[in-house]
Amino acid sequence: MSISVSTTAAHHGLPAHEVVLLLETDPHRGLSGDEAAERLERFGLNRLPPAATAGLLVRILRQFHHPLIYVLLAAGMITAGLKEFVDSAVIFGVVIVNAIVGFIQESKAESALEGLRSMVRTRAKVVRDGRERIVASDELVPGDLVVLEAGDKVPADLRLVRESELFVNESALTGESAPVSKDEVVLPETTPVADRRNIAYSGTLVTAGDGAGIVVATGAETELGEIHRLVGAAEIVQTPLTAKLAWFSKILTIAILGLAAVTFGVGLLRSQDAVETFTAAIALAVGAIPEGLPAAVTITLAIGMARMATRRAVIRRLPAVETLGSTTVICADKTGTLTENEMTVQSIWTPHGLIQVTGTGYAPTGALCDANGAPADVDANAALRWSLLAGACTNDAALAHEGTQWQIVGDPTEGAMLVVAAKAGFHPEQLAATMPRVAAITFSSERQYMATLHRGESNHVVLAKGAVERMLDLCNAQMGADGALQPLNRAKVLSAAAMLTSRGLRVLATAVRADADPSDDFDEASLPGSLTLTGLQAMSDPPRAAAASAVAACHSAGIGVKMITGDHAGTATAVATEVGLLDGDGATTPGSILTGTDLTALSAEECPDAVDRASVFARVSPEQKLRLVQALQSKGHVVAMTGDGVNDAPALRQASIGVAMGRGGTEVAKDAADMVLTDDDFATIEAAVEEGRAVFDNLTKFIAWTLPTNIGEGLVILAAIAFGAALPILPTQILWINMTTAVALGLMLAFEPKEAGIMTRPPRDPGQPLLTRRLVTRILLVSTLLVASAWWLFEWELGNGAGLDEARTTALNLFVVVEAFYLFSCRSLTRSAWRIGVFSNRWIILGVTAQAIAQFCITYLPAMNMVFGTAPIGADVWIRIVAVAAVVTIVVALDKLRHAAAPAMSLSSP
Ligand code: ATP
Repeated sequence: MSISVSTTAAHHGLPAHEVVLLLETDPHRGLSGDEAAERLERFGLNRLPPAATAGLLVRILRQFHHPLIYVLLAAGMITAGLKEFVDSAVIFGVVIVNAIVGFIQESKAESALEGLRSMVRTRAKVVRDGRERIVASDELVPGDLVVLEAGDKVPADLRLVRESELFVNESALTGESAPVSKDEVVLPETTPVADRRNIAYSGTLVTAGDGAGIVVATGAETELGEIHRLVGAAEIVQTPLTAKLAWFSKILTIAILGLAAVTFGVGLLRSQDAVETFTAAIALAVGAIPEGLPAAVTITLAIGMARMATRRAVIRRLPAVETLGSTTVICADKTGTLTENEMTVQSIWTPHGLIQVTGTGYAPTGALCDANGAPADVDANAALRWSLLAGACTNDAALAHEGTQWQIVGDPTEGAMLVVAAKAGFHPEQLAATMPRVAAITFSSERQYMATLHRGESNHVVLAKGAVERMLDLCNAQMGADGALQPLNRAKVLSAAAMLTSRGLRVLATAVRADADPSDDFDEASLPGSLTLTGLQAMSDPPRAAAASAVAACHSAGIGVKMITGDHAGTATAVATEVGLLDGDGATTPGSILTGTDLTALSAEECPDAVDRASVFARVSPEQKLRLVQALQSKGHVVAMTGDGVNDAPALRQASIGVAMGRGGTEVAKDAADMVLTDDDFATIEAAVEEGRAVFDNLTKFIAWTLPTNIGEGLVILAAIAFGAALPILPTQILWINMTTAVALGLMLAFEPKEAGIMTRPPRDPGQPLLTRRLVTRILLVSTLLVASAWWLFEWELGNGAGLDEARTTALNLFVVVEAFYLFSCRSLTRSAWRIGVFSNRWIILGVTAQAIAQFCITYLPAMNMVFGTAPIGADVWIRIVAVAAVVTIVVALDKLRHAAAPAMSLSSP
């Protein structure tokens, strides 16, 4: 068998049946399972090859492409030229170690990102052996018959064989975001890619309509694969924070180089030895630049992403990690996010009376009982019978029995109606045989109803179900128990619906027209006023177990939560009250509940305030979500918005954090989102916000920890040159401190657990500068203490008979010990080291131990003494070092205490 899988085999120029022949498949039954498995072997997975990553050498060389490294390389070469070979070797050693660490981190971060991407897998609907099934899209093979509907991502290049008003967004391919219409006509062979209307390309998104097509190319053979090959390596994403930091590092480097030049100049003016002054200037430069910062940012963000993933929030765009920490409002869908989306019909109201339904879950076991608890006679109640039939027939869901469990394939609302019909003895297969469906008007959130046309014994039957208000528009009568038509009592229907919705039940009305003529029109325009209302089906959808506590956590974190739903205001109010969005009697607080109609009536000026005030938005259409996000953003909010449908995409894109549902969401929504919830649960958003705050905290902690060392080191050198004194620390020693402490001490802060009370403080202002005033003050305080104590101890040792090498070793060890002590202080932004528990982050203990070993080596190993110009020191010196470090630590602790005494103070608030 020879199968043409090349996109060059102009499938668009062939009629569909020839493509079917060419690919040896069946336009209705698709491939057989065996054939598909065999083709999978032959053609491989339908996956793009990993982005062509730069070669090993290039990736290693890239580690040296940094202004700081240039400075170091120049310094290394000049010192070598000056025959200071040991210094030169140390500098080159540091450069190489730095490159290795950078290389390892980059590779790790890349593979972590790759892993996260694969957590959100695309699924595809495919027909095999004549049955529609859902498979992972990477299992598709050429010849597969794929079914498309609105919301899907096209999983491979398809030659369409049928379609109905199919529109596809091809921006992934062409950059053009307006959806293009597709059809199955044969096109001239010369038609350019962008105009091939009969091909649906892999990676594009179906925005409306439906269709089916034969897979003509998979994986790298697709048009997307071609583009992928051309574009090559994946782009590296910058977040607002990394951009800020990159800018900060650049400015810092320039400032430090300037300062180094000044130092050199001052030294020369004081006619000091040029070589010595030059090495000192270099020491200042390498000491003052915070080398560890970029690595710490990457690692902290990566750890944050990994932590979020374990809590079932997958980040699709890196900036979301930090934006999450600033979120001030979360707008969440009701159904499925705040509630379980497990519907069970509990009552059916008919004009004749209320029927209760027993049984829970999707098992079709239970009974329908009348007000007296006696089994309801479905044959004696025509309205009830037609209501059940409408529920079961205007339905695209299916009931499946897997193992001991009953499950729903499709929409849970429809599933619930299938279950209640089955409880009364109406089964879908039977109904399909006795009342075959002829046509359907499908459900959409805008339309709010679904209607189907069926062939009856002598005439056609129209059945419909949907939102009560919409259905009342379609009806002109109601049905009595005997089947006779009665005048429609709108008020009574609405009050019955209000009674049911006030209990938090989701209410759908059902209607019928049993005597339609086969020649009658069946479309949206012909329905209004033509149907007979048969009943109201009320279903429960319990709030998610963790919803109420997650809402409470958000509230105490100063984050507003708003429920957005297409459902009735009554149901929304009841559920909102249950999860704590409205207190006790929410309906009485004016403005706390807005409906879609209210929103439309609001003027552009009134809208932001009204939206900001309200907690529940009911009967809202997806288009209105965009307006909601914009209104909230105009009030300065950082908005997280959930969504699952195609029409939610604009709002998801507009939101500061677009959140898509991993289970129930369409591919279009996932594509537009910054974050995907793998469990669709509201509590997961709250967890992600918490992690986002922790990420920012840990970055702040690292900056607060690293800068004083850098500034201190720079100042020590500057002072020594200015006063014409001997250098208390040598350049190579400074490099030693920076490299070892950044890895062994500073990076451990990235593993710091979340602060207690992280969700009881207000959100971080996104406009706030990286270095707040408080942060700057503390950094300056620690830097000054560091310089003063190191200088003092150095001079004291010299004055008390120590050699220069010993005194320098003392100063070097003092720097490291102060840094280690200060590390414990930096573990919390507000609380003292004792309060958080000295041993509560075992990484820190590990790091401090490693650093201690390193310090003993540099102090006592003769080889290292020679390289670094150090000398062994006595136990009494260590006691002095620890004592001085302790004093410094106490002063810092007192400063922290002073700030902590003031309410709501943290390093990250100005
Ligand atoms: P949320 O926006 O929180 O997900 P929702 O599911 O109620 O809530 P929509 O799906 O937009 O929002 O539904 C709007 C209304 O349309 C529902 O309140 C219901 O009355 C009606 N409806 C929902 N699903 C169907 C369906 N499958 N067939 C007919 N009508 C439906």
